[in-house]
Amino acid sequence: MAKGKFWQDGLKFECRQCGNCCTFPGGSVYASEREFRRIADYFEISFDEFLDRFTEEMDGYVSLISVPEGPCVFYKDGCSIYDMRPTQCRTFPFWDHVLKGQHRWDDEAAQCHGMNYGKLWRPNEIREQLKQGEQALMKARSKSE
Ligand code: SF4
Ligand code: SF4
Repeated sequence: MAKGKFWQDGLKFECRQCGNCCTFPGGSVYASEREFRRIADYFEISFDEFLDRFTEEMDGYVSLISVPEGPCVFYKDGCSIYDMRPTQCRTFPFWDHVLKGQHRWDDEAAQCHGMNYGKLWRPNEIREQLKQGEQALMKARSKSE
């Protein structure tokens, strides 16, 4: 039960493709090593080449590059790796820190026009999104290993 949480009756969200979440300056896109390897395979390049060309270190973790100080490296009028996009992107805005309280949700909704709009996500669906976001992220030191 999600009793007591501000989202106990569910939350509305439906992406309106505005691109704000992919173009936020200085944004980070973390993923597990497995997810990064899947994107490298998609481009048919080696994992090392993928890391060199498309990722950078951010706060001790490997992140997709934001170019420069702007859109995600894979943003080209929309996500150019949509089917391969990391869990972080798939589960937005149902992130642990966004769901901590109504004010956090409202702050995020000021940037994302898909929040409080469209499809109603039930608590069990929101919990499933949270669970997916619990995966281990690739640490930066692994990049040169
Ligand atoms: S900011 Fe929200 S509505 Fe805009 S692309 Fe991202 S998820 Fe979709
Ligand atoms: S990987 Fe795709 S969905 Fe994720 S931030 Fe980059 S462009 Fe957006």
